[in-house]
Amino acid sequence: MSSVRDYIRTIPDFPHEGIMFRDVTTLFADARGFRMAVDQLVQPFSGVRFDKVVGLEARGFILGGAVAHQLSAGFVPVRKKGKLPGAVISESYTLEYGTAEVELHDDAISAGERILLVDDLLATGGTAEAGIKLIERLGGEVIGCAFVIDLPDLGGRKRLEDLGMNVQALCA
Ligand code: IMP
Repeated sequence: MSSVRDYIRTIPDFPHEGIMFRDVTTLFADARGFRMAVDQLVQPFSGVRFDKVVGLEARGFILGGAVAHQLSAGFVPVRKKGKLPGAVISESYTLEYGTAEVELHDDAISAGERILLVDDLLATGGTAEAGIKLIERLGGEVIGCAFVIDLPDLGGRKRLEDLGMNVQALCA
């Protein structure tokens, strides 16, 4: 297998009928595939200094931890509501049905810190936008957003680029 895409499988009708779920556990489970993904996530930012990598729950933790190690940066999780033990700031965003809320420890990022946002998949961009808002509320500067998969038809890339973000993805 020669590209990251080759290691990702699509599971039909998960978690709901009609959804084609991109399953990256097969990418993470393969030593060569996982290394390839992490190397390619950092490659567009070669020579760029980051203070912290922010990973979005949950697969963004797996990728973000490895990316942070590679960049010699710290790692900070954005978690779903109610999971972080310390004082938090929160952002709500709209889902297809209803709303969701994500949180960030209020002391996890300092003003002026340079941040790389990481997740497995960009769909509508709602989750990533909420993460960006949290980072920016603490004064962090989002230098880049890196995803393994971009589903361009769902508009996430445009949504983030309209916010002025540098968006990178390994495959569609
Ligand atoms: P968005 O907020 O619509 O961009 O959705 C992106 C979020 O949903 C990310 O945190 C993804 O992990 C998750 N997600 C949505 N669809 C999939 C999928 O097919 N595979 C894996 N994760 C997905």
